[in-house]
Amino acid sequence: MRTALVTGGAGFIGSHLTDRLVREGYHVVVVDNLATGSWSNVAHHSNERVTRLEWDVIQPIPLERLPKNIELVAHLASPASPIHYRRLALETLWVNSRGTGNALDVARQFGARFVLGSTSETYGDPKVTPQRESYWGNVNPIGPRACYDESKRFGEALTMEYVREFDLDAVILRFFNCYGPRMQSEDGRVVPNFIMQALREEALTVYGNGSQTRSFCYVSDEVDAIYRALTMTGLKGQVINVGNPEERTILDFAKQVAEVAGVALELAERPLPVDDPTNRCPDIQKARTLLGWEPKVSLRDGLAATIEYFREVSKI
Ligand code: UDP
Repeated sequence: MRTALVTGGAGFIGSHLTDRLVREGYHVVVVDNLATGSWSNVAHHSNERVTRLEWDVIQPIPLERLPKNIELVAHLASPASPIHYRRLALETLWVNSRGTGNALDVARQFGARFVLGSTSETYGDPKVTPQRESYWGNVNPIGPRACYDESKRFGEALTMEYVREFDLDAVILRFFNCYGPRMQSEDGRVVPNFIMQALREEALTVYGNGSQTRSFCYVSDEVDAIYRALTMTGLKGQVINVGNPEERTILDFAKQVAEVAGVALELAERPLPVDDPTNRCPDIQKARTLLGWEPKVSLRDGLAATIEYFREVSKI
């Protein structure tokens, strides 16, 4: 059976990618240290289709514990919520640097296609909008977000050197904000925060004046882009934005959540975190051209499915 390895496969995006790979006929090796993921996210898969390896990829991945026919490696292991990566700052720095090196080495060993899950945070607080892949970004290298932003940038640099030095067939995807079922209700990001607050009929906590913008991509769209990058040919060394180009303010996003949840909008202003990017919007021309991909799920439909999920798991 064709085999793929997903680091962070028990996490939010990783578990959805695992689902997709299994649906497409792959055997998936999920490597996760459960720092922010959970085996419950992949518990619905049989051991024949999904091998679970509890391992911190900061340590070299033990090749003797892997099947010998791995064709695809997706490196998604990393805390991604600002609250988690602040709490796990050193782990975040190491997983995106040493951990990326270890995942690259697995791909190199097996001659596998490699996809790096990078981030729009490589653009920092961007001075241009929308952000194209050719933009170098505006990142504070020593601020509270640096553990994430800078280690992801290092991971990109390392990946490109594996392409140049070893001719590794690697692709870098820069994920913009992604949301959907299996996000953790307490992970502190805006989507679970607003949804849980709406379900509890509490005020939605807007940081700053809410004029900062984000672009929200539903997880099935996101996974479709990752699957394409893993399986299409001719992408070696490409860096591709993956996100929804529909940009909106956080204030507008709060309105949407309240509307779809069917509650009256109530807001509570909170201080804006240090270095919170003022805007984020992907230019997805490269994704359209190279992957034949663009998001399909509307914010309304994606939010409805996500709210339903949080309703079920939180029993509100
Ligand atoms: N945010 C907010 N209220 C919250 C959580 C986040 O207004 O309860 C804002 C945050 O300041 C940021 C945006 O929503 O501008 C997205 O934050 P998130 O933590 O989801 O991810 P980021 O895009 O900053 O990595």
